Amino acid sequence: MSQGDICGLSPEDFFIRMEEFHGARSPGILVGGLMIDTALGELGSCPYVNVVTETVVCLPDAVQLLTPCTIGNGFLQVLDWGKFALTAYDRQSLAGVRVALDPDAVGNYPLIRRWFERSPRGGDKPAFDQLAPEIIAAGRAILAWRPVRLHRALKESSRVPTGRCPKCGESYALRLGPTCPACQGEAYYV
Ligand SMILES: [Zn+2]
Repeated sequence: MSQGDICGLSPEDFFIRMEEFHGARSPGILVGGLMIDTALGELGSCPYVNVVTETVVCLPDAVQLLTPCTIGNGFLQVLDWGKFALTAYDRQSLAGVRVALDPDAVGNYPLIRRWFERSPRGGDKPAFDQLAPEIIAAGRAILAWRPVRLHRALKESSRVPTGRCPKCGESYALRLGPTCPACQGEAYYV
C-alpha cells in the first residue's frame, strides 16, 4: 500500500470503482473514502465493524464501495441529518471513531470550500478533475476525528414481527400500525 492510497486503492483505481458503483466520479465519494480510511485506521483491527453515516448523500455509497457494510446486510445505518460525517465502530465493544469534514480546515482549500459550501442558488461547482487533486493533497487535513462510544449497536438484531395487512393482504412490519403504511395513505404509487 503506497502513500496516497485510499482503503488500499490507488486514487485512479478508486475513481474507476466509484464510476462503476456510483455512476460518476464524485468529490463526495472521494472525501468519503478519506473519511472511511481514517476511521478504520484509527479504529484499528476490528472484525465486527459497522458504520453509520449522518447523510444520505454520497457517504453511504463510499461505505458500500469500500467496506463489507451495506444497507442490505444492516451493517451500514444511514441517518438523514445532512451532516457530512460517519462513525465506524466495533459492534461488539461499541468503541468507534467518528470522522467529520472540518469546516474550518475546509476554508484553507478554495476548491473544496466551493464544493462544500454550495450556495442555495447553486453557482458553479468545481469539476471533479479540478477538485480531486486538491482533495488528495489535503488528505486528512480537512477531517476532524475522535473516539466515541455507541449507546448500542444500530443493527436491528431481533426479529421484526410481521403480519398481513387487513386492507391489502400484503405482509408488513406490524409495529407500523394496524394497516400497512400504503393503506394508511403513504403510498408513493397509484
Ligand atoms: Zn395494506
